[in-house]
Amino acid sequence: MNKFSEHIRQKMKSERFAVWRNLLLDLKTPADKHTVVRFPNSASYIFSTADVFWMADPSFNNGDCKADDTQLNEIAALINQKISFAVITHLHQDHCQTELVKKIDNPSFRWVVSCRFAEEFHHQYGVAFENMIILNNGESTVLHDIKITAERGYHKEAGKPEFPSCSYNIELPDGVKIFMPGDVREFDAEIPDMCPVDYTFGHVFLGREDAEGDEFSKLHDFADFITRRKTGSVILAHLYELARLSRDLWTHRHAAMAEVEIKKKAPSVKVYAPYFGDSLPLCGKAGK
Ligand SMILES: [Zn+2]
Repeated sequence: MNKFSEHIRQKMKSERFAVWRNLLLDLKTPADKHTVVRFPNSASYIFSTADVFWMADPSFNNGDCKADDTQLNEIAALINQKISFAVITHLHQDHCQTELVKKIDNPSFRWVVSCRFAEEFHHQYGVAFENMIILNNGESTVLHDIKITAERGYHKEAGKPEFPSCSYNIELPDGVKIFMPGDVREFDAEIPDMCPVDYTFGHVFLGREDAEGDEFSKLHDFADFITRRKTGSVILAHLYELARLSRDLWTHRHAAMAEVEIKKKAPSVKVYAPYFGDSLPLCGKAGK
């Protein structure tokens, strides 16, 4: 598989606006109470559950945002029109972009955040507390029949200061269960809720070696964490975070390596590694 290049980076940047815009314009209502997830960016997700549209970790053009960015303005306007709420795993710019958040001003919009970073979200992003639903670890909220439970985060990396983060267990109205652990660095951490799920979102991180190389010290640990909690499918994401240098940037080449390890540990698990602009209908058995 070809390695990442500056040519690919520029091509993806040039396509970014159309990918976001088209996904937001085409949020078809799924049948009954089922859910479709769409993939506009490295670690941002747009969901449609029946006629409710919601997001996780919105970031549009981290690292490239201009002073009065017309593309950002148009994406924020579509979010204001269409999206009801967003869940946030942590406040890094590739998950929660300040310039974008500041433009989401629909008074009925809700931000689901952890108590571990709610204060910072208020101060740094200017979001009013009345627009937040603040959850402690283990606490749940139900929005439009979607049950969202916050749990501990896994972003703590050995040798680095801890960064406040959380994970989410999400139960959809049709019973489909999602585990969204966010960015995981603490691969041996205990997972408080080990109930089986239908989908685990795996944010590819294989170690601190040069990502352009071929050997990765955390490959097994990543696959071990992602498969430790029983799941029907794994969605591999956090690829092509375009603000990163190539040495830190994960691609489908790395996702393919992760898939091989995941399949060794859990042969029956389905593995998806979507491209930007893809969408995936969610269905499952965990809730039945
Ligand atoms: Zn990240």
